[in-house]
Amino acid sequence: MPPDISNRTRVSVDKLLYSRDVPSIMPGVCSDPNFFETTVEPLLVAGREGDLCEWLKKNGLIAKEQKCPNSKCLTTDKMQWHRARVVDKFNWMCLACKKRVPVRNLSFFADFKCELSYALRVIDGWCKNMPLSDFGGECKNKVNLAKRIYTACTQVSEWQLKKIVGDFKLGGPDVVVIVDVFPDGNMSLEVPTTSHNNNFSKRVLCIADTAHVPVRVWASLLDGSNKENSKIVEMVKNHVMLGSTIVTNEMLYPLLHNLPGIGEVISTEALMNLDINHDHKSLKNLETIWATTVEACIHLQDLSTTLAEQHLIELQWRQMYGFVAFPSLIQHIVEYTAYQNPKCPPLPSIWPTN
Ligand SMILES: [Zn+2]
Repeated sequence: MPPDISNRTRVSVDKLLYSRDVPSIMPGVCSDPNFFETTVEPLLVAGREGDLCEWLKKNGLIAKEQKCPNSKCLTTDKMQWHRARVVDKFNWMCLACKKRVPVRNLSFFADFKCELSYALRVIDGWCKNMPLSDFGGECKNKVNLAKRIYTACTQVSEWQLKKIVGDFKLGGPDVVVIVDVFPDGNMSLEVPTTSHNNNFSKRVLCIADTAHVPVRVWASLLDGSNKENSKIVEMVKNHVMLGSTIVTNEMLYPLLHNLPGIGEVISTEALMNLDINHDHKSLKNLETIWATTVEACIHLQDLSTTLAEQHLIELQWRQMYGFVAFPSLIQHIVEYTAYQNPKCPPLPSIWPTN
């Protein structure tokens, strides 16, 4: 006998499984998914360093003007933009005392001793989730530098997530939230459990809010101890809003089905009973919803706990911004830099507003 599911829940579950809307674009962020290729990449060739700096200034990534930082200099004039024999090909110069300031002073790029074009390519690589080995090849210094840029991008993404979602509450009245555990749940029909050399030692609790497209995922490493069940219940209580409908696997169902304030809890088994022709359509839909998360959960098995946690933060950022990752990250870098350095706020962003 299929477990009873209310009509209202049936409607929201149908919505979850059979129709997915097109994502909307964040206000103020350029909506071109090929923004890097069309707008930025052409500026990264030798000879266009000046144009690149203008683009960086225009978008608030480097300062648009500088005052002389020399405390003994009495001039009130702004520093002059000058061609120079430095890696950026330009710098700022005070005409009165000849003091020079690098163009990347106090910017996101200040800590990275490389061409700005290289740093931007690495930032784009982070946005596209490219392996670090794609940068620098045999050169160890370049790989280390790319690694530091990747870490800085992750820092920015973590800051952004904390800023906008606080404690990351998912769901709400009539919203379907899926709760599952990698690798033992129903996130994937064919998880290659035996092919992995440490047999998936890292278990991950994953919660997906299906009202967002792409789904918004919150994920956390589980510790494998016998206290895990109470930890799972705590995490679900902390991250799923009251009134949500929870879809979960058969193992978690007994833990979650009596949670106070939750609209309805449905096991995947009950969901499958709604499938016409027993074609596993609902499981296949769940697999589509979890695809990126499963990929991340497989990838983090080889990482240290710290790096694995970092990887989960990146996953959450990508699920929210991945479809316009580069313009989004650029905007977050500008905001993060302003936050870290309140004395020199960047100039307002002038992204095309369509
Ligand atoms: Zn001066």
